[in-house]
Amino acid sequence: MKKVTYIMIYWGDEYGKPAKTSDERAQDEALAKEILRRVEHMRDVKITEVNLDREHYHLEVTGDDAFRFLMETLQQAPHLVDNSSVRVWKVYTTQELASAPMLVWGVRNQSIEDDYYDLHKDGYRGGPNSSHRRCASCRAELEQVRDLMVNTRKMGKRDLSLTYSFEVILSPRLARMLQEAGFTGFTLRPVWHYTHPQEGEPPLYQLVVTHRLPAMASPPTQFEQIQHCPECNTTSYLLKHTHFWGKIRYYEETEIYYTREALDRM
Ligand SMILES: [Zn+2]
Repeated sequence: MKKVTYIMIYWGDEYGKPAKTSDERAQDEALAKEILRRVEHMRDVKITEVNLDREHYHLEVTGDDAFRFLMETLQQAPHLVDNSSVRVWKVYTTQELASAPMLVWGVRNQSIEDDYYDLHKDGYRGGPNSSHRRCASCRAELEQVRDLMVNTRKMGKRDLSLTYSFEVILSPRLARMLQEAGFTGFTLRPVWHYTHPQEGEPPLYQLVVTHRLPAMASPPTQFEQIQHCPECNTTSYLLKHTHFWGKIRYYEETEIYYTREALDRM
C-alpha cells in the first residue's frame, strides 16, 4: 500500500470572504510560487497542473516522506489550502487486494443525480411523491415506498452510478454480471425513467442490499459528526476523515475494523 496525496494550492479570492487587496494577492502569489520552487525537484512530488490565470496548481505526492515534507512546507501558508484541497488516498497492489479479508466497493460518480421527485418535487422534505417514508423531524429515510424514477439519460453509457441519497444504480449489463458471477446478499429493484414508469423492461436497476454487515468495531474504527434523532431513533455516523498536520487540515479515510468473530458469523 502506498499513500498518494493530491494537493491544490490556490491563491485567488475565497468564496464567502472579501476580495483580496492587490498587495495581499501579490503576496499570496509569491508565497505559492516560492512553495512551488521548493517542491518542484523534490523526489515523489509531481506537479500535475499549473494554471497561473486561475491562480492555482496541483501536486501529486507519493509516500510518507514526501507527504511530511509537503505538510511542513505548507505550515507557512495554511490559507492557500482549504479543507478539501489536501486529500490522501491509499493505493493497493493487486496482490494486497487479492489477499484482503474484505473489500469495500466505493462508488464515487453521482452522474445519475437522484430520484426525480425527491430532487425536483420536494421529496427530500417529505413531499407526496417522495421515494421514501421519511422522519418528519430529521428527514432520515425510514422505508423506500416505490421504485426509483430518475432521468435515465444522465446515466449515459455508465454501468454504475450513485444517487445523491447513496443508492447504487446499475446498468442491466452490470446487474446481470453480478448475478451471473454468483454474488449474494442483494436483490435488484427496477429503476424507471421518470416520464415512463413501469413501461417495458427496466432501463436500470437499483442494488438493494439484503445482507448487512454487523456494526464496525469502535474503537479502533473512528467516526465523526455523529448525529442522533430522538424522534425516529436514527443515529448516523460518518467515518472519520478529517485530520490535522499542524495548521493543515487534510482528508484521509479511516481504516475500518471488524472483530474476527463478527466476520466469521457472516
Ligand atoms: Zn429522525
